[in-house]
Amino acid sequence: MSVATDWLLSDSLAPMVTGDPLEQLYVGAARGALVLPFCAVCSLALDLEQHVCDGCGSHRIDWLETAPTGVVHSSTLMHRLEPGLVTASGPYPIVDIELAGGHRLIMTTVESVTRAPRIGDVVDIGFRNLAGVAIPAVQPINSPDTEAINDNH
Ligand SMILES: [Zn+2]
Repeated sequence: MSVATDWLLSDSLAPMVTGDPLEQLYVGAARGALVLPFCAVCSLALDLEQHVCDGCGSHRIDWLETAPTGVVHSSTLMHRLEPGLVTASGPYPIVDIELAGGHRLIMTTVESVTRAPRIGDVVDIGFRNLAGVAIPAVQPINSPDTEAINDNH
């Protein structure tokens, strides 16, 4: 099985899935599902690194499949390319998404784009492939026509 090379990051940054705090996210992503933490008691959407529920104080977490769609809350183009880690040759988008299921997730795009998604854009969540590990990423729904105007400086 061939492993695609990610458009953005060096393969050396791929997570070790087994034992990673986000293992369940990666395992879900490998089958095309967006799996995120929820409070096991009150079902509140939790941050990735959150251990205690803000709503009820529970420490119990369920990793569950959630809808792979959301709205852009904020968005920027990163121009600093960390040598050896970022393999992209130009600026890349960093997008803060409000997911339909209540989570906030920061990610880049599935493929290289020259323009960051706009605030308020509705987007689907797809996956990048970083050295065989699936990583959630924004799948812009824009038509190719809107890509013609870009600010690539
Ligand atoms: Zn709770």
